This record gives sequence, structure tokens and C-alpha cells, in this order.
Amino acid sequence: QSKQLGKNRCQFYSQDMQEAARLRVQLEAELRVAIERRQFVLYYQPIIDAGSGCVSGAEALVRWQHPSRGLVAPDEFIAIAEDTGMILPIGAWVLDEALRQANEWLEQGLSPLRMAVNVSGVQFREQGLLDLIAQASRKSGFDRIELVLEITESVLMQSSDATEALMREIGQLGVRYSLDDFGTGYSSLSYLKRFPVDQVKIDRSFVSDCLEDKNDALLVEAIINMAHSLGLKVTAEGVETESQREFLCARNCDYLQGYLVSKPLPADAFRLFALGRRAGND
Ligand code: C2E
Ligand code: MG
Ligand code: MG
Ligand code: MG
Repeated sequence: QSKQLGKNRCQFYSQDMQEAARLRVQLEAELRVAIERRQFVLYYQPIIDAGSGCVSGAEALVRWQHPSRGLVAPDEFIAIAEDTGMILPIGAWVLDEALRQANEWLEQGLSPLRMAVNVSGVQFREQGLLDLIAQASRKSGFDRIELVLEITESVLMQSSDATEALMREIGQLGVRYSLDDFGTGYSSLSYLKRFPVDQVKIDRSFVSDCLEDKNDALLVEAIINMAHSLGLKVTAEGVETESQREFLCARNCDYLQGYLVSKPLPADAFRLFALGRRAGND
């Protein structure tokens, strides 16, 4: 009897896995088409100065405008794109488009602006990233747009001397680095000292529980103090409530990002939001 059940369960699992594999193969094929047909769009989430409430910059977040599935979130396709190398053309498009948009905003009277772009570790193992950014900087210069590359701790942990050298070369073009999802990885203080990182972003899992969970509160506090003593700026991500904002401001967090401020917005909505939140307009 139990053997029978076990057998059925096996079948059940393998059907499940077959289904998952089939979906993945399909997404992979569709993603190739998406790259050819440029089915991507960037949304921009405001990052505000915690003290003044003014918009200090935008984080560009990619979405896939799928012809039948609708707007597909990055969590559903970035991993596939990374595994297959498709993240290289997608990442190149994201960088190009984010900088094109920042330039358009400049012409429309939004300035100065910091533009944060998420960069995958796969892109950092390719020399092409330097060329890409050098080319972008020749087009528009980084004098009025500050380009910030958001990288995760895993990029630093898996990095070789070559990665470090590449980071520094790109840094010399005026690009800054922000350590995304900080606290979720296993990097240590020594990484922050070794690599040319300028900012850390406290992962939203710590921010969301900082008022209920004493450990998270202490952790957030410790990250802010530690980062500041190393001369780094701190952004809190996933700020959703006014009491979280107060907690973070009381602990001198520099920048805030989250639904309390705004969800990620289409380009024009971001422009209007930022114009309404300029110095003196608060
Ligand atoms: P991330 O870089 O940590 O971006 C923050 C994510 O948290 C975004 O999800 C954003 O919409 C969401 N978020 C912001 N504020 C709140 C909040 O208050 N509450 C909650 N619950 N969520 C909030 P999104 O846009 O779905 O992006 C997910 C992840 O996908 C990003 O995490 C990033 O790692 C990756 N990603 C997005 N765009 C790109 C890209 O162009 N290239 C690469 N390599 N990765 C990207
Ligand atoms: Mg990010
Ligand atoms: Mg993050
Ligand atoms: Mg995240």
C-alpha cells in the first residue's frame, strides 16, 4: 500500500518538475524573441533624501512587456537571463535606456539626478561592461548624471582580482557603486573596505520588521553606524510605513526608498513626481 503511494508521489513530483522544466524552456525561447523585439520597459522608483524628502535619484527596474502574459516582473526572468547569458544584451539595453532617459529628464528640467541601475554578476565577469559604460559616458558624460551601479554582495564574494580591477576602471569614469540587498549575503566589513563601494542599501526584509523584531532593529542600527564610520551613505529599501520612516530618520539613514514614498513609476510619472518633490516644494 505505502509502496503504491510512494510510487504515485514520485510520479506526481516528476510531473511537477516536467511542467516547471517545460515552462522554463518556453520562457527561455520567448525571452530570445523579447530581446529581438525589444519587449522591455524601465520603471523608475524614486529614492528620496531622508532629511528633506526631496528626490535624490531613481532606481531603474526592468519589466518585460510580454504580448500575452502582460507586464512580467524581473524576479520571473532575470535568473533565466543570467543562466543563459541573455542578461548581457538585456543589461546593455537597460544601461543605455536608463541613461537616455536621464538625459531626456535633464533637458526637461530635472537635475541633477542620480540614476541607479542594477547590474548582475554575470555582467561583471565580462570586459564588455567597461566598453559599454565608456561609450555611454562619451555620449552624455557623467557630469550632470551620476550613474550608480547596484551590485549584490555575491558579486564581491565571487570576485577575482580581475573583477576588482574592472570595478576600479569603471569607477574612474565617475561611476559609483551601491551594495544592494545588504545584510542578506555573507560579505563582511573587509569587502566594504576592499572594494570601491560608496553606498549600501539595507535589504527590505530588515526594514520591514525593524519595529516588531528587536534583532532587525539592532541590525539596521548597526548597519547604518558601521557604514557611516566607513564613510558610506545608506539607503533603506522597502520603506512602507510612516513609523519605519521615523525609525530610520532617527538613526540618521541617508536615503529612503519604498512604497511609502512611491512605487516604481513609468518614466513620465516619475518626472512629475520628482518635479513635485523638488527643494522648496515640500
Ligand atoms: P532590487 O534591486 O532590490 O529592487 C527592489 C525591488 O523591491 C523592486 O522589485 C521594487 O519594486 C521592490 N520594492 C520597492 N519598494 C518596495 C516596498 O516598499 N515594498 C515591497 N514589498 N517591495 C518594494 P522589482 O522591480 O520586482 O525587482 C526585483 C529585483 O529584480 C530587483 O531587486 C533586482 O535585483 C532585479 N532587477 C530589476 N531590474 C533589473 C535589471 O535591470 N537588471 C538586473 N540584473 N536585475 C534587475
Ligand atoms: Mg536594486
Ligand atoms: Mg535591493
Ligand atoms: Mg531585492
